[in-house]
Amino acid sequence: MTDLAFTRTEADRLPAAEREAILADPGFGNHFTDHMVSIVWTRDAGWHDAELVPYGPIPMDPASSVLHYGQEIFEGLKAYRRPDGSVVTFRPEANARRLNESARRLALPELPEELFVQAVRELVSADADWVPGGQDQSLYLRPFMIADESFLGVRAAERARFLVIASPAGPYFSGGVKPVSIWLSQDLARAGRGGTGAAKCGGNYAASLLPQRVAAENGCQQVLFTDAATEDTIDELGGMNLFLVRRDGTLLTPQLNGNILDGVTRRSLIQLAKDRGHAVEERDITVTEWREGVADGSIVEAFACGTAAVITPIGRLKGEGLDIDFGDRAPGELTLTLREELTGIQSGAREDRHGWLTVLVPAGAEAAA
Ligand SMILES: *Cc1c(COP(=O)(O)O)cnc(C)c1O
Repeated sequence: MTDLAFTRTEADRLPAAEREAILADPGFGNHFTDHMVSIVWTRDAGWHDAELVPYGPIPMDPASSVLHYGQEIFEGLKAYRRPDGSVVTFRPEANARRLNESARRLALPELPEELFVQAVRELVSADADWVPGGQDQSLYLRPFMIADESFLGVRAAERARFLVIASPAGPYFSGGVKPVSIWLSQDLARAGRGGTGAAKCGGNYAASLLPQRVAAENGCQQVLFTDAATEDTIDELGGMNLFLVRRDGTLLTPQLNGNILDGVTRRSLIQLAKDRGHAVEERDITVTEWREGVADGSIVEAFACGTAAVITPIGRLKGEGLDIDFGDRAPGELTLTLREELTGIQSGAREDRHGWLTVLVPAGAEAAA
C-alpha cells in the first residue's frame, strides 16, 4: 500500500512565457501549478486511486461531510530551487507525521508517511518548472485531506480524499523583513483545553478570522492568542509560533501545551539556537512577563515563525489597554541571524548539517510528468 502506483494524466501546461511572468512576481497563494495529486481513501479499501492530474475543480457532492462538519486538515511546506538547479524540500517527514497527528484528532484516516513524501515528489517532479529560483522565492506546497462521504449525520466519514496542490511564492509579507504589529486577542480564542488547537485544521483558522478582523480594525497585521482559561499565558499567533529573546541570549517559547501547533520552523529554530549555545526555555510565558521584561530591558527581541513567513520580527503589541512599541529593538540581531541561517540551509547557501533537506528533483533532471 505504501508504494501506490500513481497514474499520471498530463495537463495542458501554461505557456512558458506566462509561467515566467508569474514567477517573476508570484505574490503568495495567488497562482497554482499545472497539476495536483489526489488519493482516495475508503474505510473498506484504504488508500487507493493515487493520481497526478491536471489542476482543477474536484467533484463534490453537496452532502459531503467536510462541508457540514468540517473534517479537514492540512499541511504547508516549501520546495526550494538550489543554485545547481536541483529542487529540495525541508523536513517533509515532519509534516507527514504532523498530518497524521491532525488526522487522529479529526477522526480522519492516517496516511503512510512515505506516501505523503511520494505525493509531494510526484507533484514537484511534474511541475518542476514552477519552482522559482529568486531570492526568498519557493514553491509552496499545500497537502490537505477532506472527508467527502455524502451523508448527513454526525459521525466520522468513511470516505476521504488527500490532495496536494502547489503555488509559487515570494515573501509572505510584502515589504521584506519588516516588523509586524500584533493584536492581543483575549476574549476571542482559537483553541481551548482538549480542543483542536494542536491540530492543523481549517476549523482553527475559521475561529481566528474574526479576531484577525478585529486586529486589522486596530491597525495590527496579526493576532496573538492567549490561553482561553488564563487570558494571560501566551499560546501563539493565528498561524505562527512565538519566540521572545532575553538580553542574556536565552530564547523563550511557549511549550507545546495542547493548544498550539508543533511548528516545524519552531522546532528547527530551537535546534539552531541550541547549536549556537543559546539556552532555550519551552514553558508557560505570560503577557505580563513579556510586558515587564520589555519595560526593564530584560526582553530584547520578539518574533513569530512559520513555514510561510519564516521569521517575522514583532515591532508592536497592542490589546485592550495595552500598547507596547518595541521601536528600535526590532528586528533584533538574533531574529535576523536565525532567519538568515534557516533560509540559507533551505536555499543551499549553507551546509545542511542536520540532514533536513530531501532532494525532490536532482540537478540536471528534465521536468517529467
Ligand atoms: C502551520 C502553523 C504554524 C507553523 O508551523 P510550521 O510547521 O512552522 O509551518 C504555527 N501555528 C499554526 C496555528 C499553524 O497552523
